[in-house]
Amino acid sequence: MPSWIASALAAWLGAVLGSFANVLIHRLPEDESILWPPSRCPRCRASISWRDNIPLLSWLLLRGRCRRCRGAISPLYPAVELVVALLGWGLWRRWQAHPYWAGASLLAACDLVAVAAIDWKHFIIPDELSLGLLVLGLCVAPLNPIFAQPSWWKPFLFSVRGAAIGFALCYGAAAVGSALFGKEAMGGGDVKLLAAIGAWSGGLGAFDCLLVGSLLGSIYGLSLLAAGRLRRSDPIPFGPFLVAAALLNLFLILPLGFPLVPIAS
Ligand SMILES: [Zn+2]
Repeated sequence: MPSWIASALAAWLGAVLGSFANVLIHRLPEDESILWPPSRCPRCRASISWRDNIPLLSWLLLRGRCRRCRGAISPLYPAVELVVALLGWGLWRRWQAHPYWAGASLLAACDLVAVAAIDWKHFIIPDELSLGLLVLGLCVAPLNPIFAQPSWWKPFLFSVRGAAIGFALCYGAAAVGSALFGKEAMGGGDVKLLAAIGAWSGGLGAFDCLLVGSLLGSIYGLSLLAAGRLRRSDPIPFGPFLVAAALLNLFLILPLGFPLVPIAS
């Protein structure tokens, strides 16, 4: 297959998974089933037919309006589909030598995008997404190029160890943070998320993500404070920044163990 067709298919698969991420984003916080009922218009509750539910294209063709009630459909829906489509394209370009891993990491990316959107809006990280990502990371450990080992059980060990380190690092950082600032900077959801990230990227990867996530979150918080758009008492969700770091880590853009043990990858 020509390489551009494979890349386009990966982007399309990403867009479809992005459509599923939208279902997760809108239903998990409401405790609704993610399988039933099928997609509905958020305004008139009409079922959306398959031809109006094609990722990216339907929203463009309908110019962002429901076919029945003409109510506006948020551009966040196609935006999420576009983000996961780009991740599908990029992860395929990065990991086409390990196609199963490319597929597994796209599932992780879909989960992470849903985590970021839900935490941004509701300040929660559903266990279905954090613990689900943890379990999936353990299951696919033998496919993980950074855990590549001759013995079959070692990748599982690295994954479990990564999860334990991620959990301990975030738990420790949360305890230090609340002792220093007298308020909760990270919650249990963040701890479970970093454990999941550790299962995918090992203990060093979890360390990188905590460091880079905290840095990104601090830059965001301080710039809002400086612009007078945030008060010191206002909460900032930490999950989206951990997600940004974890997505970089899926591409191995952060050298593992950064800044302690930079290794080439
Ligand atoms: Zn409608």
